[in-house]
Amino acid sequence: MIDLYKAIASFRLGKRSDEISTVSTIGALMEGVYHGVITCEQLLKRGDFGLGTFDSLDGEMIVFDNQVYRADMNGDVKPALPTDTVAYAAVKNFQSDKTFDLNLVTSVAEFGKRIDANLALPNTIVAVKATGHFERIQLRAVPKQQKPYAPLAEVAKHQNVFELNDVKGTLVGFRFPAYTGEVGVAGFHFHFLTPDRLRGGHVLEMSMRDAQVECDVSRELHALLPDSAAFDKADLDLDHTQAIKKAES
Ligand SMILES: [Zn+2]
Repeated sequence: MIDLYKAIASFRLGKRSDEISTVSTIGALMEGVYHGVITCEQLLKRGDFGLGTFDSLDGEMIVFDNQVYRADMNGDVKPALPTDTVAYAAVKNFQSDKTFDLNLVTSVAEFGKRIDANLALPNTIVAVKATGHFERIQLRAVPKQQKPYAPLAEVAKHQNVFELNDVKGTLVGFRFPAYTGEVGVAGFHFHFLTPDRLRGGHVLEMSMRDAQVECDVSRELHALLPDSAAFDKADLDLDHTQAIKKAES
């Protein structure tokens, strides 16, 4: 009962929702469902922090400080327009539940393990914000697609991989437990943004030091599914687990 009172009290205080909101599914992206579902302006009503991609896979999306950014093929970042549309996204109103420092992390896999060890909450969805110094960060962006869209596994073969060295920046990402299926990317998924907000992309690999890590644990998931023929006709019962791993890491 106490929790209920707390919930009512926070509602009265106008506290923001703790839910994670997704737009479309990673499984749908794998099947080439790349059209915009909602606008960036609408996306920001669901969360001020997150990641995703745009209509026609036109850039890697980073949602940071209540602003949507687009990293292009070359990793150059610009603010997206409020009218630009979102093909896939996961967003949250970021409210840190746990903060810790890491001196040195030499890979994305190690970073994930250390977050897991710190939280010890393997069955929750977690938004992760990590600011640090990157000796090396390997990023990718995919080229804008033309209709008819090829599946993501094909598109990923033509991704542009690039590296930034000795830069400060922020990792923006999520951990979705495997039981959430293909709504999110199972495991950790990070996008990156430099402090000047001019460079970024989807993170493939990294080595980071002096990191401040903030974790926002969520037990609420809101999934918005596209209302479109492309989504309705896509075979989303296929198991895309391996293909997602290949395309996203
Ligand atoms: Zn990504």
